[in-house]
Amino acid sequence: MKKNILLGAHVSISKGFDKAIEEGEKIGCTAIQIFTKSNRSWFAKKISDEEIENFKESLKNSQIKSVVAHASYLINLGSSKKEIEKKSIKSLETELERCEKLGIPILVLHPGAHLNQGEEKCIKQIAKNLDSILKKYSKTKIALETTAGQGTNVGYKFEQIKKIRSLCKQKNKIGACIDTCHIFSAGYNISTPESYKKTIKNFIKIIGLRNLKAIHLNDSKTDFGSRKDRHANIGKGKIPKKTFELIMNDKHFSKIPKILETPIKSEYPKEIKLLRKMVK
Ligand code: MN
Ligand code: MN
Ligand code: ZN
Repeated sequence: MKKNILLGAHVSISKGFDKAIEEGEKIGCTAIQIFTKSNRSWFAKKISDEEIENFKESLKNSQIKSVVAHASYLINLGSSKKEIEKKSIKSLETELERCEKLGIPILVLHPGAHLNQGEEKCIKQIAKNLDSILKKYSKTKIALETTAGQGTNVGYKFEQIKKIRSLCKQKNKIGACIDTCHIFSAGYNISTPESYKKTIKNFIKIIGLRNLKAIHLNDSKTDFGSRKDRHANIGKGKIPKKTFELIMNDKHFSKIPKILETPIKSEYPKEIKLLRKMVK
């Protein structure tokens, strides 16, 4: 049980896809998250067959049992700007293609931000775009990430993620990713065992456990309900350490990859050790 836990961190591909596996192993990961291209640029350099081969080979020979990808921060399927919406659709297709080539089953995506057009319209637009994009892909699924609700981001309520899914014919290709910093900042209390239980029960009721594809383990620099997306290292923010212990021991999540996206990456080995030790 303890050995099979899927725990790790977001690692860099800047030195190559296979090097991301190596880095993950070095810091004690059994699960990793990667960007398949630069996350702050629209551009994507083609992946060679050799890169794919090397990545798959490294993965096979490693202790990493789960890889998830995270989509570019630039993608906004719910943008009111036509130009951005178009670029976002194209870009997400490219990312899904890359994931399928690399054999990565899950692509985490921020649902989108409405800018000035209102949440309702934004949610419908996201669903429409996801539906037409996902028609073309059958191997990699999208996991919509719960957001802090900063700015005009949607996805800060479980109901909004549910709404996007339920508007899609391709809903079986859409799951969710819980980010602990984000849900805490969005106003889902997880600070006590009771409130934690209630929030998880709520998530399961609204979105469903089988739709949960990944968990991001981040502490929060800002207060409960602040609607700010500011990650802190585990134990250094406003979420009690005890909450992470609850997650690590939650039977619901035993097969879900748990990924750190905390700001000081040199702390990853220590944090992974700490989280692993919490497992009873
Ligand atoms: Mn994210
Ligand atoms: Mn996250
Ligand atoms: Zn975040």
